[in-house]
Amino acid sequence: MGKFYKEEDKQYIKDNLQKILLYYGLQEPKTPKGNWKCLANRHKTPENSLTVKNNICCCSCGIKGDSLSAISIIEGLDIVKDFTKIIEKGLIILGCDLSKIDRPQNNNKQTKVETNKKQYDIDLTIIISNIYKNMQDWQYKYFYKRGINNKKLFEKYKIIISNPVKVFPKNILPDSKRIYMYTNIIPVWEGNQIKNCILRRDDKYSTNGLKVLNLKDIPLKIFNINYLYKAKEGDIIFITEGIFDALSYENIGFKAISLNSISMINKFIDQLEKYIAQLIKNNVKFVLSFDNDNKGKEACNLLDTKIRNLGLKTFIFTLKNHKDINEFYVKNQRNFYSSIKYTYALIKNK
Ligand SMILES: [Zn+2]
Repeated sequence: MGKFYKEEDKQYIKDNLQKILLYYGLQEPKTPKGNWKCLANRHKTPENSLTVKNNICCCSCGIKGDSLSAISIIEGLDIVKDFTKIIEKGLIILGCDLSKIDRPQNNNKQTKVETNKKQYDIDLTIIISNIYKNMQDWQYKYFYKRGINNKKLFEKYKIIISNPVKVFPKNILPDSKRIYMYTNIIPVWEGNQIKNCILRRDDKYSTNGLKVLNLKDIPLKIFNINYLYKAKEGDIIFITEGIFDALSYENIGFKAISLNSISMINKFIDQLEKYIAQLIKNNVKFVLSFDNDNKGKEACNLLDTKIRNLGLKTFIFTLKNHKDINEFYVKNQRNFYSSIKYTYALIKNK
């Protein structure tokens, strides 16, 4: 097998030393001149042990050199014999799609700008995954209050609880004086990459203003759009307006997509069109489960028509005594469950 990578790939990995280290769980210094914290399984006292400049050096455990050498040491790979594997590992860590690695190369500035822009996505996946590793159960208090207590969901989406200021680079932080209230951070995945995050306010601080903020300069995304292209035979997918409505369904084992905003209806239809053949072939059905207000009803009817026009089956789940799905779920879990199960069974046979 010839070498699959190009010199640029090698350089790209070298240039992203810090991301590689973060991926492996090493921790950045707390002060600008401080040293990194090395890995606890290599040390009794990993604090402050690793210097990072162009190359790294942890004198006590021997991680040293550039990104490639760090990967080889941490993964236990031979820097000469396993070099291809090391490059491959580095590219995967940095979010490259290896199937597209044979990409055309040119070195003008325009391409460079595009590459930088693309790295946003890559960063989110790495940033969030790393923070998730340190999350503790008790931190999900707000989720428990909203009835979301299925730990598998926290893991599946890598939901984190943190002041957004501590998580995101400044250039993508939403402009809000009260950004610190938006501690419930729900990643929005596409494939195996985090493409955006929903920042949900913790209502205990305030109930004024926006409930949800979005990251700046990053396109809005639909939560769980993966369900469309991964759709299986006979799938029934609930569509909601809000993230906690979708999580209510997910919490008890159903599939739910959250548009995150009524304004995303057209984007959602675009996605349906993209996977239409497969959706029809698999007889995938949709249950629209919008808020119990005029806006919600209007949007629901509009979406219902649009989905039907594509030749797909759609149903409407109407709320009677509650303003939205999550309220129903929180106030009467037993009724909610039986009512959804009933609806599901009814639709299954249509
Ligand atoms: Zn070390």
